[in-house]
Amino acid sequence: MESHRNTKKCSCGNENNRLPERYCTDCHAKYMREWRKTHKMNPQQKAKDKCRSYASVYLKRGKLKKKPCEVCNTKTVKMFFDDYNKPLEPRWFCDKHHRIKCAEERRRKEPILFSTGQFPIRDIIL
Ligand SMILES: [Zn+2]
Ligand SMILES: [Zn+2]
Repeated sequence: MESHRNTKKCSCGNENNRLPERYCTDCHAKYMREWRKTHKMNPQQKAKDKCRSYASVYLKRGKLKKKPCEVCNTKTVKMFFDDYNKPLEPRWFCDKHHRIKCAEERRRKEPILFSTGQFPIRDIIL
């Protein structure tokens, strides 16, 4: 076990300088480059991603407060955004209603246009 964990070579033959990770720096970089090629985020996903991370920061800092599910009043909720440019204006849904909401969103034919620029409120709050 010990000797196995301490193997210093990556499968490429280079010394693995990122132990206990599986790959050396070179291999990891290569792997990430390949991964990016096949896992590109579209602008909508990017905006969504960004919005969520802003919102979770606001939540931690108490700028945002959780509310019960707006459909069934359940207390365990997830955020849902009508507009990804407004991370301070999430709607709250329980697991079940969140899934329904997301499915509705995916069914919408016309993607909403999102600006991928900075949130104007960023400088004030963060
Ligand atoms: Zn390697
Ligand atoms: Zn609900």
